[in-house]
Amino acid sequence: MIIERQTYSTVKYLLKVSLCFLLISCSSKKSIDADDQILADAENHSGEWLTHGLNYSEDRYSLLTQINKENVTTLGLAWSTNLKSKRGLEATPLIADGVMYVTGVWSIVYAIDASNGKIIWTYDPQVPKQQAERLCCDIVNRGVALYKGRIFSGTLDGRLISVDAKTGKLKWETMTVDSTKPYSITGAPRIVDGKVIIGNGGAEFGVRGYITAYDPENGNQLWRFYTVPGDPSKSFENKAMKAAAKTWSGEWWKYGGGGTAWDAMAYDPELKLLYVGTGNGSPWDRQYRSNGEGDNLYLSSILAINPSNGELIWYYQTTPGDSWDFTAAQHIILADLEMNGQKRKVLMQAPKNGFFYVLDRTNGKFISGDPFVYTNWAKRIDSISGRPIEEPGVHYETVNTDISPNYNGGHNWHPMAFNPKLNLVYIPARENVSNYGHDTSWKYNQTGFGTGNGWNLAIGTDPRNPTRHDTATKSFPRGMLIAWNPVQRKEVWRVSQEADWNGGVLATASDLVFQGTAQGDFICYDGSNGKILWQQNLGGGIIAPPISYMLDGKQYISIPVGWGGGYGMKKKFAPLQSGRIFTFVLNGNSPMPAFNQSSNTEIPTTTFSATAKEVAQGETLFWKYCGTCHVVNEGGGGLAPDLAYSRIVTDSSILFQVVKEGAYLSLGMPKFGNKLNKEDIINIQKYILTKAREKQIK
Ligand code: CA
Repeated sequence: MIIERQTYSTVKYLLKVSLCFLLISCSSKKSIDADDQILADAENHSGEWLTHGLNYSEDRYSLLTQINKENVTTLGLAWSTNLKSKRGLEATPLIADGVMYVTGVWSIVYAIDASNGKIIWTYDPQVPKQQAERLCCDIVNRGVALYKGRIFSGTLDGRLISVDAKTGKLKWETMTVDSTKPYSITGAPRIVDGKVIIGNGGAEFGVRGYITAYDPENGNQLWRFYTVPGDPSKSFENKAMKAAAKTWSGEWWKYGGGGTAWDAMAYDPELKLLYVGTGNGSPWDRQYRSNGEGDNLYLSSILAINPSNGELIWYYQTTPGDSWDFTAAQHIILADLEMNGQKRKVLMQAPKNGFFYVLDRTNGKFISGDPFVYTNWAKRIDSISGRPIEEPGVHYETVNTDISPNYNGGHNWHPMAFNPKLNLVYIPARENVSNYGHDTSWKYNQTGFGTGNGWNLAIGTDPRNPTRHDTATKSFPRGMLIAWNPVQRKEVWRVSQEADWNGGVLATASDLVFQGTAQGDFICYDGSNGKILWQQNLGGGIIAPPISYMLDGKQYISIPVGWGGGYGMKKKFAPLQSGRIFTFVLNGNSPMPAFNQSSNTEIPTTTFSATAKEVAQGETLFWKYCGTCHVVNEGGGGLAPDLAYSRIVTDSSILFQVVKEGAYLSLGMPKFGNKLNKEDIINIQKYILTKAREKQIK
């Protein structure tokens, strides 16, 4: 049975490769002109990387085989380009006709010569820097779309922009959100059915999610699909919203509801279905959001949408009544799998909730759902209903509860990859736990990070620094790369990783798997068994996924390196470096750039006096305004400095300039002049200095 399947896969693969050569030799269109036909055939333009996930199936499986298990040891640096940024790089670069299109911090778009790394043009959409206060997870962007000679990209302040791919000149831009609300865009647009499709984020602050289709020619809106219902006293936009409203209770629309589609999309041009993953509820705590009841459609769901009119065709909800930030906005991969002797058109996803799902993508029918990491919130997914069988008390109505996975997810946005020959999905996964609880003092505040189960619960535990664990979760958090067989529904191999926030994955037809780690190691694994074949340290932590392309007869592997993302704000595993794109080739011999070697972990000496009341007030304010990004004396912090080691904190006049006046706005540190007065800032300072000193004495 297994042999038969492998033979079938090999024949299918050989057919695909020969068809690919045939198409390349016959095609006269340039890749930069990528039209609907070219995009539908993207996987056969195997030397390019024309759309976010490589093709509409988003499998990130490159057919290039010049680099293989034998010669990968000779991989060396072809070029590196310094983007001179100091925050997270999450983008998947696109490649067309020898040019790389990639995004960096502040939604800046770069066109780079893919043969030598020279920047051809840069488009800076000039995002207002104060927008950083509306972001949960760093000033990042995950990439662009290419269509008919134009580049399309979202901006942190909610615009969709279109620039000329050759010149980088703006063609049009359109505001896709209500700017009075805390929306943001970090995800890559997709081109589907001749339309630009874009979602948004902001469910930690209180917004109503949606995705919108625009005309690529002029930016005119073609349709919009909301992911959660609005105020029922007004008319519903469509029958899907009317049906969804029956699964909500209370006055959710006042808090936005959430369900933001901030990352995953895939497309089946034959079925003409666009698949979109939706995010968590806003606020997280269902007691505040929906009186503690109901499935709250279409939170944490996979939606199949008709791209011609935005109509919902089917949905599958991975986490009914989400209370834990269990988004299903994670990477979606489409594949045709041989199951029980039948070929099934499937959709695969490993959302934050820790279960690996296989659905029939023609109708949304549940095929399987199995835990790929440690989970304690649900016993299993019921095979008939496709619903999770929850453990008691997991919605923390009365008692705080340790939940695994936590809001960082068993898998987050870092893309997976699927090797159809080996039938393996590679998941950049992690195991973790957090203590969730009902924050009785919570009040909705649209401009503040508001989850309803506050980080600073009166009951005590910052859920990001869990203190109570059962035996199974003792060594959490930890990271791992998992090779998962979606037919056999089991893990085939795993590599344990020291850190729990590692990069996205690339698979190639030579059965190689590439991934970067939080320590900055860029590693090539044997895709069949997880053995390390090659590795190179790139100085700083890696979160982005690698890509591969072919140019002038050479296969290249590229990866953006820039530590960050939500997790990276508070923690790091390697010294911070300038953001760079690294590109490797067989026998490459360019020298590595010089890296920063150390981080500052010295506590500055200072004298101060503080009353217990001042420190307590400072602590409350710290958790309201600073604690989303900063830590105090916890090993050095991440992108945002550990404030115990900050010399700025010891100098009140500089502290005022940074916190009140916004001296570091361009670095992504918002100004709080309209929220904090001098006394507030001094109390925060006293709290930080007290906490730093407490630990120092120990
Ligand atoms: Ca979230």
